[in-house]
Amino acid sequence: MVILGLTGGIGSGKSTVARQFGSLGVHWVDADDVAREVVEPGTPALAAIADHFGASILMDDGSLDRAKLRQIVFEQPEQRTWLEGLLHPIIREELIRQLHPQDYALPYVLLVSPLLLETDQNQLVQRVLVVDVPVEVQVERTMGRDSNSREQVERIIAAQMPREQRLARADAVIDNNQPLATVAAEVRALHKSFMVDFG
Ligand code: ADP
Repeated sequence: MVILGLTGGIGSGKSTVARQFGSLGVHWVDADDVAREVVEPGTPALAAIADHFGASILMDDGSLDRAKLRQIVFEQPEQRTWLEGLLHPIIREELIRQLHPQDYALPYVLLVSPLLLETDQNQLVQRVLVVDVPVEVQVERTMGRDSNSREQVERIIAAQMPREQRLARADAVIDNNQPLATVAAEVRALHKSFMVDFG
C-alpha cells in the first residue's frame, strides 16, 4: 500500500482536492482531524492533559479549552515540549491506524496535512503531492472561507514553508488556480496514473 502525502499551504485547496480523490473511492486521512480526535472527551490524552494542567483546561462540557492551552504553550516552551511529547506518538499511531483501512482494494491512500513537509509526518509517506496556487489566490480563498483578516492570513502563510521550497519537494503537483471542473479532471488523470504506478 502506497501512502501518498497531499500537502499545500493554508487555503491552497487540500480539502477540496482530497474530496475529489474521495469521490473516486480513494481513502484519505486528514492529519488535522486526527490531531483533534485524539483529545476528544473520553480519550486517554485528554485525561493526561487535565491531570497535568488541572481541570481548568477543560470547558464546562468537558472538552479541551484549546484557546487556553494555546496560550499556555505559547508562553511556556517547556509546556509545549511536554504536550508534544504526549501527543506526538499518539497522533502518529492513530494516523498509521487510519491509513490502513480494512477491506480496501485500491493500491494507495492519501495523508492530507498542511505540515507534511515541516514535520516528521513525511516519514509516513512514500510520495508527495502538492496542491499549488499563487500566494495571492491563497490569501483571497482563505479570507473567503474563514473570518480572518488579510493580515492574519498573511501571518499564517509566512509561518509555513515557502511555495518554492514546497514545490521543490513535490513528486507531483496539482495546479489549483483553475476552475474546479478542470482540477477534477486533473485529479482523475492523476488517479489513473497512480492506479497503474502503485497497482
Ligand atoms: P485547504 O484545505 O488547503 O486549506 P480548501 O480546500 O479549504 O483549502 O480551499 C480553500 C477555499 O478555496 C475553500 O473555500 C474552497 O471552496 C475554495 N477553493 C478551493 N479550490 C478552488 C478552486 N479551484 N476554485 C475556486 N475556489 C476554490
